[in-house]
Amino acid sequence: MLATDPPEFFDEGTPCGVLTAEPLDRVLDYLAPEGGAWMGAFVEVPLGPRRVLGVVWGKAEGSFPRHKLRPVIRVLDVAPMRAELRDFLSRVADYTLTPLPAMLRLATRVPDLGSGPAMRKLLYRGESLPARMTEAREKVLAVCDSYGGAGLTPGELAQAAGVSSGVVRGLVQANALIEREAPRDQPYPRLDPARTGPVLTEDQEAAATALRAGVQGCGYGATLLKGVTGSGKTEVYLEAVAECLAQGRQALVLLPEIALSAEFLTRVEARFGARPAEWHSGVTLSERRRCWHMVGRAEAQLVVGARSALFLPFRDLGLIVVDEEHDSSYKQEEGVLYNARDMAVLRAAMGSAQVILASATPSLETWANAEAGKYARLDLVARFGPNELPQMRAIDLRVEDMPTNRWISPSLQAAVTARIVEGEQALLFLNRRGYAPLTVCRACGHQIECSDCDARMVEHRFLRRLVCHQCGASRPMPEACPSCEAEDRLAPVGPGVERLEEETRALWPKARVAVLSSDLFGTARALKEQIAAIAAGEADIIIGTQIVAKGHNFPALTLVGVIDADLGLSGSDLRAAERVFQLVRQVSGRAGRAEKPGVALIQTSQPEHPVIRAILSGAEEEFWRSEAAQRKTLGMPPFGRLAGIVISAPALEPAFALGTELARADAPLRAIGAQVFGPAPAPIARIRGRHRVRLLVKAPKGAGLQAAISDWLRPHKLKGDLRLSVDIDPQSFF
Ligand code: ADP
Ligand code: ZN
Repeated sequence: MLATDPPEFFDEGTPCGVLTAEPLDRVLDYLAPEGGAWMGAFVEVPLGPRRVLGVVWGKAEGSFPRHKLRPVIRVLDVAPMRAELRDFLSRVADYTLTPLPAMLRLATRVPDLGSGPAMRKLLYRGESLPARMTEAREKVLAVCDSYGGAGLTPGELAQAAGVSSGVVRGLVQANALIEREAPRDQPYPRLDPARTGPVLTEDQEAAATALRAGVQGCGYGATLLKGVTGSGKTEVYLEAVAECLAQGRQALVLLPEIALSAEFLTRVEARFGARPAEWHSGVTLSERRRCWHMVGRAEAQLVVGARSALFLPFRDLGLIVVDEEHDSSYKQEEGVLYNARDMAVLRAAMGSAQVILASATPSLETWANAEAGKYARLDLVARFGPNELPQMRAIDLRVEDMPTNRWISPSLQAAVTARIVEGEQALLFLNRRGYAPLTVCRACGHQIECSDCDARMVEHRFLRRLVCHQCGASRPMPEACPSCEAEDRLAPVGPGVERLEEETRALWPKARVAVLSSDLFGTARALKEQIAAIAAGEADIIIGTQIVAKGHNFPALTLVGVIDADLGLSGSDLRAAERVFQLVRQVSGRAGRAEKPGVALIQTSQPEHPVIRAILSGAEEEFWRSEAAQRKTLGMPPFGRLAGIVISAPALEPAFALGTELARADAPLRAIGAQVFGPAPAPIARIRGRHRVRLLVKAPKGAGLQAAISDWLRPHKLKGDLRLSVDIDPQSFF
């Protein structure tokens, strides 16, 4: 240890630096309490008149005379935050230009940390039914059943069922629910890595062996595991998880849309004999608490989680799997703007862990890292079992006879009918929620827009409302045009999934139709149930937005119809081509996963477009190579770096003025060879009543982008209502 290293332990009465989750721009000095404090200890400290949570972060700053320092109130009964996690939070803060307190908030999103009794009352289903049954009571019992005997607190139960606490109390009195004392954070059942998995194919075994060897090495390594949908990527990376658990280290699997991944949890249970810990927005607060504490005590061996699981206090993390690594939901677009995939690689590198990035259609970044030799690459080329990849064909909309306001071409219609006759399922894919993306007055041409955003209102017929997809504002569907007041002249333009459903029901009145769109379900649980019902064959035609593209197994599904493959192709977005390619390939891969072969029919008006041709031919490497070549020429990511700056304010003028001021003072950026573009009104020029102005910084690959941006922004103070956000490696440009 160097002499300048901070001590690992602060004796009682010595000054120490404490990081709090409060929005302050520095670490504060306090005196260590009675008994002293370890570095990383979770503490409660006085801040003005309040008590706040903090972590002992380092040496005291020393800017305050010692006799004026206040002592730490108490050290919480929680394992101190390990140096590895503290360093990781600091690195993510530096990388994303996020203040450290915001990082600490991200790492401590857990209810009543370090307080509360060790025991608490949980409710379980009793033997008897209440004498009087009401709808509310039925709901409570149904929720209780759906948790499969897990036990919930009265508050959680009332909330999950959407009833008052009185209803729950009534059921306890009627002995339909029983109270039992339970330890607050029950340990998870042991996962048994020694249980044998399926017999792997030769390809799979080769990949699994390589991944196991990586884990055995106990050091850092990153691997792209690329394989078509259904090739057994999950089986293969579970082998790496098994190896990691066998070594007594912890593993983390990140999934997009984790709340929906019931199937994955079942597979883990089948493989290891018990369910893993879960960390995502769909779990109850007490489950969150349990997970956080158990992870910190190394009593959770495997966590399956959403992106924020990356900030859990693992004791000894040996492996991180990022499944569907290309998924754009790994990028958090609000608050701390970080990409969980990239930060997973960072955490693995800092903690001597392995990271596996799995995808059928990797992001160009990951593909390029593998090309450059930074990541190892393993390929699974064939689907498991006798089933083959779906045949892909285009339906040329220019030659189809399409009646107005219809989106299912005669060719697609015939194909769907043929499936239904066979008792198989068809999926119609349209990545647009709601009924129609646009509502126009046929009398005056007025388009209904959100009053707070520069965005059109989308009709949601199911809700009978117009909804703004930017800010979520909604209002009842008006009878008359808000502009010219003509009645009954408002007309929907273009299709959304709800409108497609209407067309589908008209074409196949006897078919069972299921719509999967994130907004049609109150809860993740309801959506999960719908997905299970479809998998069990309870639908003939499935209509879905992009949530169907993600890892669900529908064994009877043999036809996928992509309603509009051109959607998104025309976008100016850097990743437009990549996204269309990924999404259409991904959704097509849903067809024919069991014994029956699948077909994917792609409706397009430009079948000769290079992206559509690449989708149809499956010439993936060529597609990536040509995308990469284009980006290289332009110096765009991953061959150059970008940062997006958004300035917003209630009025346009001050936002623009600051943008102009920044653009002029670009010397710190030029010093690293970076350029700044803008200011320009953002593509969505107003959200929630705030005008938005964008700047884009483009830098050469190796340049010190974050430091330069800090230097550049520092002299410009934000006055009044101005807000500024920096998005390093932006994924979206709205
Ligand atoms: P991917 O993750 O690449 O989409 P999965 O791992 O989900 O692929 O595999 C697809 C299906 O094939 C799953 O139902 C899986 O259980 C099954 N499967 C894959 N490999 C094997 C194997 N070696 N033995 C038995 N079943 C397998
Ligand atoms: Zn709005």
